[in-house]
Amino acid sequence: APVIVFERVSKTYQKGTPAINNISFQIRKGEFVFIVGSSGSGKSTLIKLILKEIEPTNGKIYVNFKDLTRMRHRQVAKYRRGIGVVFQNFRLLKDRNVYENVAFAQRVIEVPGSTIRRQVPFMLSLMGLLDKQKSLPTELSGGEQQRVALARALVNNPVILLADEPTGNLDPKNSWEIMKLLEDINKRGTTVVVVTHNKEIVDKMQKRVITMNKGILISDEQRGGYSHAY
Ligand code: ADP
Ligand code: ADP
Repeated sequence: APVIVFERVSKTYQKGTPAINNISFQIRKGEFVFIVGSSGSGKSTLIKLILKEIEPTNGKIYVNFKDLTRMRHRQVAKYRRGIGVVFQNFRLLKDRNVYENVAFAQRVIEVPGSTIRRQVPFMLSLMGLLDKQKSLPTELSGGEQQRVALARALVNNPVILLADEPTGNLDPKNSWEIMKLLEDINKRGTTVVVVTHNKEIVDKMQKRVITMNKGILISDEQRGGYSHAY
């Protein structure tokens, strides 16, 4: 079943050339997809459209069978909570320890305390962070911070995980560790969408690759590599 559907979607910010131009694709439940393309090709715009942070100028977007363009304003926050997101710069709460950073994602949606006390340690153990529960983000390496961000993104069991340049601030060793975790997460059933510039990772992983260039989807390959088209 498709979990993300773009039907002839365009987005033009002001007057001028569209950031995204007439894009159509489907991502099915359980897929692992890379979105690649040079800077300015429209990748972030794609992510923002999926999160309903911006509206398309034309076309239709469906996520989990919901028509995003027709979604009520008051449903948006709840909708976004169904999507796990991680970013290049981790975006952790700096004054809270690792446990609290993950628990916070559950507290805001009023998950019962007993469930939090069960699920947070479980997620931290999956990410190899049990011994870091009481550390502050500043006491962690970049790779560890990204694993905390992943634990936080996943603790509420989202159908989709969006990762926007998740290895952009990591060295090769930590980058591979994060990619292996994303692969594990995907094997457990979560649909994973990764925006990246990391050619080496994309080429080695042999996953589906959607390539953007100047707002146009120029290729969509099932076991692709980083395109040579730019
Ligand atoms: P990428 O993530 O691949 O670098 P973006 O989606 O950020 O690409 O940008 C695609 C195009 O849209 C670029 O030409 C960029 O300058 C333009 N753009 C992005 N965000 C805005 C904005 N808020 N206002 C105007 N133009 C924007
Ligand atoms: P890496 O080499 O993987 O980037 P670091 O050298 O940054 O990792 O950190 C190695 C270990 O030391 C990590 O487990 C991290 O949690 C710990 N660490 C790093 N900085 C501090 C700090 N200021 N206080 C406590 N522990 C730290």
